[in-house]
Amino acid sequence: MAYSSPRCGGPVQRGRNAAAGFAGGLAGALIFAAFGSFQCRGCGKIPMNEFPAEVRNKARLGSLAMVGGALLLIVLVIVLQVFMRS
Ligand SMILES: [Zn+2]
Repeated sequence: MAYSSPRCGGPVQRGRNAAAGFAGGLAGALIFAAFGSFQCRGCGKIPMNEFPAEVRNKARLGSLAMVGGALLLIVLVIVLQVFMRS
């Protein structure tokens, strides 16, 4: 999913946080990315409220999907560990 910057029209990415990734692994990084602000290569961090409402709604849906994916990943890891112990 790609969004464009409301300031310059350039491409923006979801923010990444190394600390969150370290603490929670891939799932933590995913959850942080889902709720973090967007990052534009040209103008830096852009808060969600600078985006038009329809983009915010789409991004929120994307965030829910990302969190759902992260939860699924956690469940999968737990299931795998249970299987490996038995
Ligand atoms: Zn920009």
